[in-house]
Amino acid sequence: MRTTSPLTPAGVSERLEAQGVDTVIGTVVNPAGLTLAKAVPVRQADTFADPGLGASPSWHAFAIDQTGIAFTDDVGVVGDQRLRIDVSALCVLGNGLAWAPAGFFELNGSPVALCSRGTLRRVENALAQAGITAAVGHELEFVLVDPEGRRLPSTSWAQYGLAGILEHEAFVHAVTVAAASAGLAIEQFHPEYGANQFEISLAPQSPVTAGDQLVLLRIIVARAARQHGLRVSLSPAPFADGVGSGAHQHFSLYRQQQPLFSGGSGPGGMTTAGQSAVAGVLCRLADAQGLLCGSIVSGLRMRPGNWAGAYACWGIQNREAAVRFIEAGPANPQGGNVEVKIVDPSANPYYATAAILGLALEGITNEATLPPKVKKDPAQLSEAQRCDAGIALLPDSQPDIIAALNHSSLLRKLLGDSVIDMVVAVRRMEHDRYGELDPEALAGKFRMAWSL
Ligand code: GLU
Ligand code: MG
Repeated sequence: MRTTSPLTPAGVSERLEAQGVDTVIGTVVNPAGLTLAKAVPVRQADTFADPGLGASPSWHAFAIDQTGIAFTDDVGVVGDQRLRIDVSALCVLGNGLAWAPAGFFELNGSPVALCSRGTLRRVENALAQAGITAAVGHELEFVLVDPEGRRLPSTSWAQYGLAGILEHEAFVHAVTVAAASAGLAIEQFHPEYGANQFEISLAPQSPVTAGDQLVLLRIIVARAARQHGLRVSLSPAPFADGVGSGAHQHFSLYRQQQPLFSGGSGPGGMTTAGQSAVAGVLCRLADAQGLLCGSIVSGLRMRPGNWAGAYACWGIQNREAAVRFIEAGPANPQGGNVEVKIVDPSANPYYATAAILGLALEGITNEATLPPKVKKDPAQLSEAQRCDAGIALLPDSQPDIIAALNHSSLLRKLLGDSVIDMVVAVRRMEHDRYGELDPEALAGKFRMAWSL
């Protein structure tokens, strides 16, 4: 359960001990999307919070192949940083464990520019300065596999079928119980289209909290799977011949508590600023792909027909559009919101949200114009019709995706050069080492790369 009142670093150990905690885990997500961790005995929790535990800057450069380190001119073997858990987000997981998200700090206590949680916090603050607040809702899609990462039987499985819930009833139950006890607001949990694939959606939260809760959900799902002899693939393309897994992000924006995505006179009820926000995201999607879905396996998912949003366009409830608008209304308790479908689970979720919200704010500031909505599956339009409507297929080639990010002066301005340089470096290493693998070998090699 969530600790009852906000904690300050001093006295955390004592409070946790009283709750039966013996071990505290702190996590960070690195530029390659890997969740990295340190654990301390509970008496060290205060120290983990402040001044923090040592970590080499190379943590930012760890690659997805279990060995690679994508050193850059700025990130090498020299130097030291501190990992500090955020005690206000501490959560007791049970079995003697507590968890908190951590951030990177310099030895003098100033934030590390590369820290993904800190980067998102900066974007959240930039929105606040513009008088805007955001709510973000994450979706998590994943595929259950056996402990060696092999396919599970799918004899009893139908797309979105009840059979999937019953087949994995103990796992589903363990997740919902652990989530409830951790205070994690699951909105829905269902079998997905692919065999042994599930989706869990989380209720919207403020941006950093939403990122933290996604990490917590991944931990809960991984622990529940392990309890039942299963493992979780968080690869965007677990099997080359199967469906992909997305990590769609929904967001809504408010100015003085008034929603920008409803109550307006624009399409779907968007306000003028809401339209500009969507335009800001849409027109830079190709530049942001490296942050949203930039891994070596992401391209295997980014295909028309996968509901991954392979076409750079927007539509109201259009599941083949990269940006899907969901109108406010009595059937939609969350109000008008925007779903960015191209995000996948190989992305660092904090960077991905920072890019999306940063682009949305840029769109608002520049009063960007939203192109017309796309009412059909773009694949059903002719090439000429797509061209007339300005609908492009997003690239699925990793070198193109990396180059677009590397050259994006806007994303460099929004997230910082150090972030973009590091993401480019880790993704480039993936391509340099594994770009020659065929789809099957690629999917097999990285099926468990992001697993917890
Ligand atoms: N699995 C699809 C993806 O890779 C998404 C399916 C859905 O729309 O929920 O993004
Ligand atoms: Mg889904």
